[in-house]
Amino acid sequence: RMLKRQMLCRLDIDWLNAAFLAIYESLVPLEEETAKQKQFFMLLEKLVSKEWPEARLYLYGSCANSFGVSKSDIDVCLAIEDAEINKSEVLLKLADILQSDNFQNVQALTRARVPIVKLMEPVSGISCDICLNNVLAVVNTKLLRDYAQIDVRLRQLAFIVKHWAKSRGVNATYQGTLSSYAYVIMCIHFLQQRRPAILPCLQEMGTTYSITVDDIQCAYFDQVEKLHGFGSRNKEAIAQLVWAFFNYWAYRHDYANAVISVRTGSILSKREKDWTRRIGNDRHLICIEDPFEISHDLGRVVDKFSIKVLREEFERAADIMQYDPNPCVTLFEPY
Ligand code: ATP
Ligand code: MG
Repeated sequence: RMLKRQMLCRLDIDWLNAAFLAIYESLVPLEEETAKQKQFFMLLEKLVSKEWPEARLYLYGSCANSFGVSKSDIDVCLAIEDAEINKSEVLLKLADILQSDNFQNVQALTRARVPIVKLMEPVSGISCDICLNNVLAVVNTKLLRDYAQIDVRLRQLAFIVKHWAKSRGVNATYQGTLSSYAYVIMCIHFLQQRRPAILPCLQEMGTTYSITVDDIQCAYFDQVEKLHGFGSRNKEAIAQLVWAFFNYWAYRHDYANAVISVRTGSILSKREKDWTRRIGNDRHLICIEDPFEISHDLGRVVDKFSIKVLREEFERAADIMQYDPNPCVTLFEPY
């Protein structure tokens, strides 16, 4: 009887892994879509270089970090080195150029926290945000993309977590919940902490890539092709990892004292970061250190109401993974 039960459990877990993988596959963009984005980007490059021959255009965010689901918006950064430029003027000029090239819904949002030009490409329906000189975002995009190449389980886990967060309404910084970027960082940290580890800590390894952006030195080991098979001693598959991820954030994370840090591959204390009390709007109720801007807590948007929402959602997800007969449906039920 024991053997029969073990076999049943195995079947169960294999079935669950297959179900999660199917969800992951359904979220990955088709090659066709990626090709269209590339084309669109090259058109933008052409227009921009006519006006600013010295400028460079970069893709960043989910269309470039390999954590983008199908039909994501495109994030683009226009980098102009000239220190004399007036940001608003450049963005207004850019909006002008795009408008006259038949792009639709072109809007320059010059007073936003991060000023951008928004636009839509009429044929493909691709939406795009263009920001100015946000090079740090381009660099953290590369870091995420490099981590994703080490072990496919990172991409699988992050797609499931992002899909869960969007379905459950906890992926909106303006409502005090977390950004997609924060969720991916949480996944990287989590896989660094598994035993055996599934991901290394690239910033603690010998530097092969280094760039200074806004006085911040960004340095890490980026020859990730040499790290294939790094996590192969760990045999955990996606269902187990999803279970453990939610279990960690529901019941094991020390919200009162701990700061998760991908940069060091460890957990730091709030005390050593001086993140123990509220300063201005930073409440530090869930602490996620940015890998490069280390004084920046990605959880700072979370307030005393949204922390409750967030933790209840982690608990709900953990309990579903523990007890629900069909977790890959229930987990993503709209809230
Ligand atoms: P989505 O699929 O939801 O659009 P995304 O990967 O584009 O996900 P966003 O949270 O929209 O994620 O952020 C876009 C990019 O902006 C990130 O990849 C990151 O480079 C940068 N970014 C976002 N939030 C922060 C932050 N708090 N600090 C530093 N960089 C950030
Ligand atoms: Mg985005």
